[in-house]
Amino acid sequence: MANSSNKDYYEVLGVDRDADQDEIKKAYRELAKKYHPDRSDDPEAGEKFKEISEAYDILSDPEKREKYDRYGHAGLGQDDYSVNFDDFAGGDFGGIGFEDIDDIFDMFFGGRRRTSRGRSDRRSSRQSKRGKDLKYRIEIDFEEAVTGTEKEIQIPREVSCDECGGTGAEPGSSSRTCPKCGGQGRIRTTQRTPFGQMASTQVCDECEGEGEIIENPCPQCGGSGTQRERSTLTVDIPAGIRDGNQLRMSGEGQAGQRGARPGDLYIVVNVRDHEIFERRGDDIHCEVPINFVQAALGDEIEVPTVEDKVKFQIPEGTQPGDVLRLRNKGVPHLKKSGKGDQYIHVKVVIPRSLDQEQRELLEKFAEISGDEINPEGKSFFRRVKDAFGG
Ligand SMILES: [Zn+2]
Ligand SMILES: [Zn+2]
Repeated sequence: MANSSNKDYYEVLGVDRDADQDEIKKAYRELAKKYHPDRSDDPEAGEKFKEISEAYDILSDPEKREKYDRYGHAGLGQDDYSVNFDDFAGGDFGGIGFEDIDDIFDMFFGGRRRTSRGRSDRRSSRQSKRGKDLKYRIEIDFEEAVTGTEKEIQIPREVSCDECGGTGAEPGSSSRTCPKCGGQGRIRTTQRTPFGQMASTQVCDECEGEGEIIENPCPQCGGSGTQRERSTLTVDIPAGIRDGNQLRMSGEGQAGQRGARPGDLYIVVNVRDHEIFERRGDDIHCEVPINFVQAALGDEIEVPTVEDKVKFQIPEGTQPGDVLRLRNKGVPHLKKSGKGDQYIHVKVVIPRSLDQEQRELLEKFAEISGDEINPEGKSFFRRVKDAFGG
């Protein structure tokens, strides 16, 4: 992520440039409490909290702080930001949900860092326990991209535990409502501080925010509800797919903790180049060599297409570089019906050496043709003469 603003980190935390770690931590705690989005009604709290966290993240790390002191924001690279707040609103890609924010928060308030175990019916909690998305890269042949194909892949992933069915509880055992938080997963506490009484909400340490307690964790998965497996999946690759396209297989990512929604699986498709075909959009281009007699007289030739070979009429008087079209022999359109075309780039091959008889025949041909052998040449040289006054 990029830093969320270019505000001065010392100003954000309201500390002096020579503030020590204790002062920085204290300032951060104060502000984080005030602006935590779960606790503040201020519409700008989220943004503020982001700034505060970022400033703290940098200034609390001596190495990052030194870079920042010397070079300002410009001195900090992507890697220096450990928390990706860009996905604050719960983006699907490794995003940080509100529960994760709590993790950070609670660490500084003596709360126990949550270990993300167990299922919960509360939206926010479930959000963070949704299984992770997975990405898998697959390479297919040019022809397969044109015709579509099915590929079998094997991916190591977390799946639902087959012993407990993903609940995390030993089969036959039950879970009960957490007595400490009454099933809320959070507890309100009041702390006495030098600044007076402060109320805060913390993740319940008894149930780790689940609101319920498993009596006997499943012996196979240890209560997580998931197990590792090498899964075999069939990927349906549609005809017309392009190099770099991404397919989403909904729900085929990592299993969620204790029955939460699984992540998605993204298949990135790479298409190998072809020796003679080149794809441009949904059209296919290829170069076809013909001899100069075929070019002059015309001929029926066989042209390769991705799916088969077709007979193709080279018209009389075809010129080198002419591009001829074979309709509907291109790539199927991915999102609508129909196909692109195939274009044939004509390469006229001139013989590199002639024997005596061939030479005589061509000389004879030139003789009887006169200027007609090169009608364009006549006008070209006339124009050269005009231009240079030769
Ligand atoms: Zn289990
Ligand atoms: Zn609890």
